[in-house]
Amino acid sequence: MAHTLARQLGSRRRGFSYLEILAVVTLLGITAAIVLTRVSYRSDEAEINACHLHKGNLEVQAQLWFRDKGSWPASNLSDMAADSNYLPDGLPQCPHSSTPYTFNSSTQKITGHDH
Ligand SMILES: [Zn+2]
Repeated sequence: MAHTLARQLGSRRRGFSYLEILAVVTLLGITAAIVLTRVSYRSDEAEINACHLHKGNLEVQAQLWFRDKGSWPASNLSDMAADSNYLPDGLPQCPHSSTPYTFNSSTQKITGHDH
């Protein structure tokens, strides 16, 4: 009797059933999907924040350019990009869309990039 019980317990503890393993693998998959979605959302958000920083910086530099030179920089900002007093690292590119920044002298703003 005791011998049979021990054998039954032993056989029960032999390992995980196929369904248990399937459940664990499924849960791991769902967890990985959620984590990866959040990570890619965060990196999108970081790129957009960096783009907005570039826009703000370029608009301030354009104001300084106007104060110093009495005219606005070219709409593609090539003149400002060539002058290391204003953009020592050159003209930045949008980290989100990889498109160049253009300046509108009537609004005194960088056009587009409303991500
Ligand atoms: Zn942008």
